[in-house]
Amino acid sequence: MEKSKINKEWHMKNRMSKNASFEQRVKWHTEHNKNCKCREGFPQKLEEEIERRKKKN
Ligand SMILES: [Zn+2]
Repeated sequence: MEKSKINKEWHMKNRMSKNASFEQRVKWHTEHNKNCKCREGFPQKLEEEIERRKKKN
């Protein structure tokens, strides 16, 4: 029996819009990391943006 890492149900319920804001994307990936294992952590570009914003504050 093979178990897929992707939580299809979660993905169906949580579609991210193409023009999602930075905050929306961070929120989406935070929830995604909790609910699905189809990929690890944040995309590199988003991670870089998070670091950039941390430094500003
Ligand atoms: Zn996923």
